[in-house]
Amino acid sequence: MKELHIYIDRLKKGQTEKISESISSDFLEIEEQDLVFDKIFKIDAEAYLANDHLMMQFTLNISVFIPCSICNKMTENSLKLNNTCFSIALSEIKGAVFDFTDEIRSTILNLVPAFCECNQGNCPDRPALKKYLKTPVKDGPSKTKDVYFPFAEDNFFIEL
Ligand SMILES: [Zn+2]
Repeated sequence: MKELHIYIDRLKKGQTEKISESISSDFLEIEEQDLVFDKIFKIDAEAYLANDHLMMQFTLNISVFIPCSICNKMTENSLKLNNTCFSIALSEIKGAVFDFTDEIRSTILNLVPAFCECNQGNCPDRPALKKYLKTPVKDGPSKTKDVYFPFAEDNFFIEL
């Protein structure tokens, strides 16, 4: 697989490193029947240094297939992150390379919804189930998480 590595030395003069890769989801190390990810997904990331921290923003898009909560049919859920930020103190990074695989992995796993329904939320089996349900389940967990980093503007470096 492609490696999700940041070379810290390349950022020391204020550069921003951009990564744009299509990577295999094998690194998620998920081998479960009820949790299947796209084989390949796209990730864009930017890394730069600020105040002794490595700052990263990433955008990714991956589909996960989990069973419909009503009929059990495997159903696609699109997981998206837009410019999600993450930072780590340079003192915590051992060596010259930071591997952000684990960060991406836990971020993706956190996005997997606990509940889903096939057919865009209109499972064909729902009417059959209705008589057993007192209140229809309406709000599943949000599938899209947008986190914006407040210092993303270019002028962030002016004060340095
Ligand atoms: Zn269904």
